[in-house]
Amino acid sequence: MKNRIGLTRFLDCDAMAGLVRQVGILPLMQQMLVAMREDYVRWPEFEKSARLAVHSPVGVIELMPIADQNQFSFKYVNGHPGNPALGMPTVMAFGALADVATGFPVLLSEMTILTGIRTAVASALAATVLARKDARTMAMIGNGAQAEFQILAFAELIGIQQFYLFDTDPAATEKTIQNLRGFPAVECIPAMSAAEAMSRADIITTATADKTRAVIIRESDLRPGIHINGIGGDCPGKTELAAGVLEGARVVVQYEPQTRVEGDMQQLSAEFRPVELWEILAGRAEGRQSADEVTIFDSVGFSIEDFSALRTVWKLASIHDSGHTIELIPQLDDQKNLFGRLGISPPL
Ligand code: NAD
Repeated sequence: MKNRIGLTRFLDCDAMAGLVRQVGILPLMQQMLVAMREDYVRWPEFEKSARLAVHSPVGVIELMPIADQNQFSFKYVNGHPGNPALGMPTVMAFGALADVATGFPVLLSEMTILTGIRTAVASALAATVLARKDARTMAMIGNGAQAEFQILAFAELIGIQQFYLFDTDPAATEKTIQNLRGFPAVECIPAMSAAEAMSRADIITTATADKTRAVIIRESDLRPGIHINGIGGDCPGKTELAAGVLEGARVVVQYEPQTRVEGDMQQLSAEFRPVELWEILAGRAEGRQSADEVTIFDSVGFSIEDFSALRTVWKLASIHDSGHTIELIPQLDDQKNLFGRLGISPPL
């Protein structure tokens, strides 16, 4: 039977970078925010699970699947804090989007760049319901690969104007300042210590990478009304917040079964009940409840955010004809003649 399926769109890093430049990083973040909010609001429609993680003494490799009735996505992602010293990023990722009706993979994409964008958009989405509306300053602790994305998302989507930067590696802070020099809405100010950066901030974002029980934020760093966007405590034995910081705050997570094991919340007892972000976005729970409340987004990254990111870039890549179309799945005239696709000549 002649019934050929289509080709798969493939976005490598060049194609992704080109698409981001073509669309503009800020409009792309805006569009992804809309898609992510839509997906979180229809949370019950998704088939969800905690990600599958394979741990080693130096890092983790994870698979993150999710599906609604129409589309399935997965991401492969790692976290190896020692990688930059070996000439590789700490976080590396790729993933796919497929059609549930047939199982056909419509998109195969790099997701290292995309994860930077989607993590920042997820942080901003949580901040829309958790940060004070008058927040104008943010401390950015950890100025590595994620930093510029976080800063741009908070400037564009939340209205933050001043960013106090600190990293144990001064070259990382300098790199971030240089990269953001051309963005007029962003003022970056280097700080001498994490405590100094935090002392001036309405929002604290932690994006450090160290496979240890680190304490970047202590109870003494808190002021009433602060919002913490903690993205680096995302693995068993890898945290950024003192347990007491969480105990005194309103803690919001993506998917409780995953965060309980991976997030800063791993330090708390089973009795501690966080709020899931979707509950707030869908109007089933309150976001920030008072101007003085300390709020925490204990972010570990959840598959629904990758789903939103992939469907956003798939739509845009189709409009702009980005990347290549590849024969990832064999194109066959006779679907039962897979062997024929090998093109092996019969022996004489
Ligand atoms: P990176 O290695 O590029 O940058 C991390 C930076 O943290 C480095 O510049 C390092 O010098 C700095 N650092 C380490 N310890 C520090 C400390 N005590 N104080 C200040 N700075 C310190 O890593 P990245 O890709 O930017 O990722 C940052 C973190 O975010 C990682 O832990 C990663 O696993 C996590 N992450 C989370 C999500 C999520 O969805 N929650 C997504 C992506 C990455």
